[in-house]
Amino acid sequence: MPLQIVHHPDYDAGFAVNHRFPMSKYPLLMEALHARGLARPDALNTAEPAPASWLKLAHAADYVDQVISCCVPEKIEREIGFPVGPRVSLRAQLAAGGTVLAARLAMRHGIACNTAGGSHHARRAQGAGFCTFNDVAVAALALLCEDVARNILVVDLDVHQGDGTADILAGDPRVFTFSMHGDRNYPVRKIASDLDIALPDGTGDAAYIERLATILPKLSAGAHWDIVFYNAGVDVHAEDRLGRLALSDDGLRARDDIVISHFRALGIPVCGVIGGGYSTDVPALAARHAILFEVAAGYA
Ligand SMILES: [Zn+2]
Repeated sequence: MPLQIVHHPDYDAGFAVNHRFPMSKYPLLMEALHARGLARPDALNTAEPAPASWLKLAHAADYVDQVISCCVPEKIEREIGFPVGPRVSLRAQLAAGGTVLAARLAMRHGIACNTAGGSHHARRAQGAGFCTFNDVAVAALALLCEDVARNILVVDLDVHQGDGTADILAGDPRVFTFSMHGDRNYPVRKIASDLDIALPDGTGDAAYIERLATILPKLSAGAHWDIVFYNAGVDVHAEDRLGRLALSDDGLRARDDIVISHFRALGIPVCGVIGGGYSTDVPALAARHAILFEVAAGYA
């Protein structure tokens, strides 16, 4: 079976090339997947915008309406990091719909990945930190609402702490949130996940993988997860502009492999989302994001 991949050309909201958010990584990631033979016609699935009813499972109704009608207050737009015009609004709805679709495909095929998603700083009340809607929280709550999943695990390995996901899902016994991130990185005020591991600046491959390897069995012990959402942010890479950690390409590959193999060996579906990654060398950044898909394809 080919790895099922969810994408949409409008994941790219067409920002200027010098924007702080490297929007062109989305089309370049698709190019990288084509070059690797992974974006086959029988592997590609087109995302559809998440309906407001799904978005409102995770977010305040007034904020969802503001994003859909492109009337987000300026103060919130500043916290997000860009204005929410029609293309950003559509992109946010598509990315959330894409993660829901990838989750459904993962439950059917064992594993599937979205070529966007991992917008983990979006809180219940509003977006923040380049995140408009929290696609993983939306997808988790949509699956729970439909009763197709009852116990969900979020493994968030983006270098930034998953504060928005923790905010939305705190106190929900059906979802366990795990974030391993750089201690001194954004957000300054972290919101406690069910389990947080904060790493010192400069953490490299060996220390990172060792830490992760000790945690994974604890995450799966005694709990039957119907699905795992895996945020494979590549901003842990040594050459990331924002990351402060020091993983290599091989380290990223080892990280993705240890996570995916652990849960697939237990028969637990894995839904991968790309998470963060920041670099002025966007082709190199897209190649880093492609590692998730290369590794996941080995388990499809
Ligand atoms: Zn990040």
